Amino acid sequence: MSAATEFTGRALIGRELEDRSVRITVENGIIVSIEETHEAAHPWICPALFNAHTHLGDTVAMDIALQGRLSDTVTPPDGLKHRILRSMPEDALIAGMRASIRYMVQNGTGGFADFREGGVRGVDALRTAAAGLPGLHIIFGRDGGERVSEGLGVSSVRDVEDAESLAAEVKKSGKLLAFHAGEQDSNDVDGALAFEPDLLIHCTHATDRQLKECAGRGIPIAVCPRSNWIFGVSRSPDHPPIRRMLDYGCEVLIGTDNVMAVQPDMLQELAFISMVYRIQPQTLLRAGIQGSQVFGVPFFIEEGAEANFFVVSPEDSNLGFSHDPWASIVKRVNISNIRQNIIYPRD
Ligand SMILES: [Zn+2]
Repeated sequence: MSAATEFTGRALIGRELEDRSVRITVENGIIVSIEETHEAAHPWICPALFNAHTHLGDTVAMDIALQGRLSDTVTPPDGLKHRILRSMPEDALIAGMRASIRYMVQNGTGGFADFREGGVRGVDALRTAAAGLPGLHIIFGRDGGERVSEGLGVSSVRDVEDAESLAAEVKKSGKLLAFHAGEQDSNDVDGALAFEPDLLIHCTHATDRQLKECAGRGIPIAVCPRSNWIFGVSRSPDHPPIRRMLDYGCEVLIGTDNVMAVQPDMLQELAFISMVYRIQPQTLLRAGIQGSQVFGVPFFIEEGAEANFFVVSPEDSNLGFSHDPWASIVKRVNISNIRQNIIYPRD
């Protein structure tokens, strides 16, 4: 990416995703200029998406038959997924995670925040899997993994006995603290909020008071609706309460959760949310990008920013008839419409 490269088209510019015909010049991975051009109807240029919650490790358990309750499957230490992860050779685990990261890179996703099981070794395995692949890789470790990653990802305050000392240690070291909270009911949300978290995952059943508290204290919430439906903790657009989160001013991020059950495909996630939760396309698309801002590298297309965007060819399909690129990106674009992925190389 050393020479200057130009991208001309209809781009979604800035935090407001303003639809403008522009020429974007990228030099050494940085957007050095954005100039107005004459009406360019295509291609569409959209900021890269950020997958704000994954469990890439369980790629190796993809589509195992899910039975029983959520806790029988994903709750540590002996949920089905954890038994499979433990029995898997390290190289298979790494190959699985790498394949999922590559899929995300090919599909307009410029980064992820992963909850990594397996302590220090688990974090090392993910770093090995991600080596040489572009993007912003945020890892929340556990069982000691938090000491060699960006922070601690707690499965739920009710699953750990020593949450207090763990949280204190993480805060002291200046690392990030994230909790699954409110996935099955609202009972573990207050416990998580008490530890001054940097991020909550799910809040599928959080109460209005809890949501207002998240909004007031600026604690982002990563929702993962397809996962909630697959694991049977949601059956209606009331859960997770995305509309109320937005109404209260919560910072809403989007994640795809367990790869064993859900493809780490942010475009599919956006399409599902758009259909079931009826969130306005521009607002929803921004939520799909916003995680990058939370983790310090905003993917919004602005002069001086790192180049993290994907180029869609609407003219190669019926998308050429679209009147609304925001709506069509959110509802219809899939990997086959993406011509190019420009993701800043970080290694
Ligand atoms: Zn999760």
